[in-house]
Amino acid sequence: MDLKARINADTKRTRGCWLWTGFINAGGYGEVSFKGQKYLVHRAAYELKYGPIPDGLLACHTCDKNYPIGDTTYRRCRNPDHIFLGTHADNMRDKAAKGRSARPRHIGEANGRSKLTTPLVRSLRAEYSQGGVTIADLAARHDITEHNMRCAIRGLTWKHVDSPVDLGISRKQDAGLMLLARYPDPSLTYADRQKLYVREQRAADVFMSEIADAMGLTVKRVQLIAREAGIPHRPPGKRHRSVRAPGGEG
Ligand SMILES: [Zn+2]
Repeated sequence: MDLKARINADTKRTRGCWLWTGFINAGGYGEVSFKGQKYLVHRAAYELKYGPIPDGLLACHTCDKNYPIGDTTYRRCRNPDHIFLGTHADNMRDKAAKGRSARPRHIGEANGRSKLTTPLVRSLRAEYSQGGVTIADLAARHDITEHNMRCAIRGLTWKHVDSPVDLGISRKQDAGLMLLARYPDPSLTYADRQKLYVREQRAADVFMSEIADAMGLTVKRVQLIAREAGIPHRPPGKRHRSVRAPGGEG
């Protein structure tokens, strides 16, 4: 039996996707052991049809959009025609472009120290609306994270500045992108990333409500994540310090 036959033997073909039914790793991707070697199934399937994947490139799925947001079943898909190669940045852009549910919720502000100013935010929004420039470009130019730039452009921060731009992605998807960019290790699950983020922010004494805003979740949900991850409560007295810089919100 060759690797191809081995993979085919554990595949269920359904609605266009060929879903791997064997071992699934912590990241939700199929994994197969063959002749003493471990392979990620979707990458192996791509290589068997199209040849080796160059170093540093990710095998991304086009079929993720066929599943509900947050459902990672697509990662088990090993149909080579549902897979394209991209850099990490391509993958982020692709995910952002696919964000479809536009339901802007004007809650909270992003954490962190802002390098932006009111006139700058106004001109950035105008520039972005005119097209030809990406959030990533703008973020790099002003040395802030893409997440913070997205929040500023779409008006989740800097709410007093006019002309926020509808980016067509939900608060949760935005948070998902932020977590992915922050913790790109593909073996991490979404829940792992949430726990890492909560732990990090709690260690920096960030308010629960601010963490919840950044994650697009309720405070209750964040508390639950903290409890599940065994993140200790802060000692009394340290409870009300915010790390938000003056003028950093909008
Ligand atoms: Zn698929």
